[in-house]
Amino acid sequence: MRRSLARRLALTLVFPAVLGAAGPAAPTGPLLWEAWPAARVSPADPWGLKHSGLRLALADLQARHPGLITQVEEGTSAEGRKIPLLRLGSGPTGVLLWSQMHGDEPTATSALLDLIHWMGMRPQDPVVQQLLSRLTLWVIPMLNPDGAERTQRWNAQSIDINRDALQLSSPEGRFLKAVRDRVQPSVGYNLHNQNPHLRAGSKGTQVAMSLLSVPGDEAFTVTPGTRQTRRLAVAVDRLVQPLARGRVARYDTDYTARAFGDAMTRWGTPTLLIETGGWAGPAEAERLVRLNFVALAGSLAALADGSLAAVDDAAYDRIPLNQRDATAALVVRHVRLASGRGLAPFAADLSFLLPGPFAGERPRLRQPVLTEVGDLDHVLGLTELDGSGLLAVPWPAPEGTDWPALKAILASRNLDATDEAAVLAAVKALGEAAVAGPGYTGAVLLYRRNPGGRVHLTGAVLRGQVVGFEPR
Ligand SMILES: [Zn+2]
Repeated sequence: MRRSLARRLALTLVFPAVLGAAGPAAPTGPLLWEAWPAARVSPADPWGLKHSGLRLALADLQARHPGLITQVEEGTSAEGRKIPLLRLGSGPTGVLLWSQMHGDEPTATSALLDLIHWMGMRPQDPVVQQLLSRLTLWVIPMLNPDGAERTQRWNAQSIDINRDALQLSSPEGRFLKAVRDRVQPSVGYNLHNQNPHLRAGSKGTQVAMSLLSVPGDEAFTVTPGTRQTRRLAVAVDRLVQPLARGRVARYDTDYTARAFGDAMTRWGTPTLLIETGGWAGPAEAERLVRLNFVALAGSLAALADGSLAAVDDAAYDRIPLNQRDATAALVVRHVRLASGRGLAPFAADLSFLLPGPFAGERPRLRQPVLTEVGDLDHVLGLTELDGSGLLAVPWPAPEGTDWPALKAILASRNLDATDEAAVLAAVKALGEAAVAGPGYTGAVLLYRRNPGGRVHLTGAVLRGQVVGFEPR
């Protein structure tokens, strides 16, 4: 009895690989994650890859893997840069993937290069063979080269190409529409970066990737096409969860008729939106490219081997929703905040943002900035400081001042260890320049209170970073 159970188990374990009729098993997320370093041809900094670098990378891939990539044609940007359209594979299911229609959103562009190299490196791999025999991939790695050149969202006409699906004023939008109309792909992948300061659900962590089964109408009607992209989103979630637990969300949006993803779905190419967010820590940009590689390779393999059809699309609705403006680079909590307006110190949390390469629709941050004062219980600090018992004092230090210099200035004015009243009088004398409100870019001194109304300087927030801080 026990023996036959063991045999049955052994058969179950062996047979999927032996049978082969169902084709090779789709690769798992961790397997693809481990495959990426060898497949990687993308640069360390995805934002550093401009149009000329992309063309060199594509020429290199074509030379390394003859016959894999066909450059079908080139569109032309407003400023005359050529926009390559590549074809890989020869299967009956057409998939159109376009990246970087917003010029400052390049993570997936790098992942697409790595994906192409991964396929080229393993021509004998049954997973790759199946992918290329059942799918035809149409790839536009950089739709907005003029925007990429300037690291900006818009094209050279200052048009948001992703709001130009109806008017088609931009040559890049016209090109994308013409490709869709000619190729009639069954599925679209619309590849973007989003604000890195989003949370997966109201109490979740920072979103590394958000997904949207892009609706084709106002009511988000589920059709066979959108059911397919809901399944794709679930498949991506399952692929990347083991690598980035809790860091996947559903993209929050309304139906936008003039946006390309929505129009593609309406035109008959149901589209999955993948938005890369943030993942604070070392080599952040590379980890996000790697995660994109896993999402693209794994979901395309699931589409090719038919396993996608068995994915329960209801799981899509259980993916937590993006929460906007819900993380900050730094949150300092529970301080008593002083003010150049001479107000009595009051309880507050403070949040700070640092400049990054992605700006989206907002003006690009030029320097670290204080973003909000007050109750920030809903905001997750990528760095957090518990300021309980601290007096926080805005101090507009001259540009370039570092912590030792700041400390020396305060010591020279006998403000490093003194009565709280003396510190409050000094900040009041600075007036409006020492008001820590949204947009404030000066330093914030941190004083610890000692018995008897005395305070001593114990650190500061300088350019969005905590410096010199001595925990009690
Ligand atoms: Zn975008």
